Amino acid sequence: MGNMHGTIYRNGEKIDVGYGVTATCDQPDCTEEIDRGLAYLCGSVHGGDEYSCGGYFCGQHLYMAPEGHHGNRCIRCRDHGADPTEDSDDAMVVTFH
Ligand SMILES: [Zn+2]
Ligand SMILES: [Zn+2]
Repeated sequence: MGNMHGTIYRNGEKIDVGYGVTATCDQPDCTEEIDRGLAYLCGSVHGGDEYSCGGYFCGQHLYMAPEGHHGNRCIRCRDHGADPTEDSDDAMVVTFH
């Protein structure tokens, strides 16, 4: 069993989470198919925490968490958690076509 599958409440909404649960990327307009495992999670715990929204995103829309934080971040949470006065060498550049 482990963390394979579970049910959580996110923003008052009950959702199924886990590797076996297929979903689409939570980024608006992205239709990439993913699952709700930790690999696609914004944050390090299902449902999110104070640094993350708990959304699930494809690899294109998931970024490294700021230094000292665990897991991945969506672009919104990443910007929110980043220090704007500090330029990181490995910051990802996002271009819109
Ligand atoms: Zn997020
Ligand atoms: Zn996506």
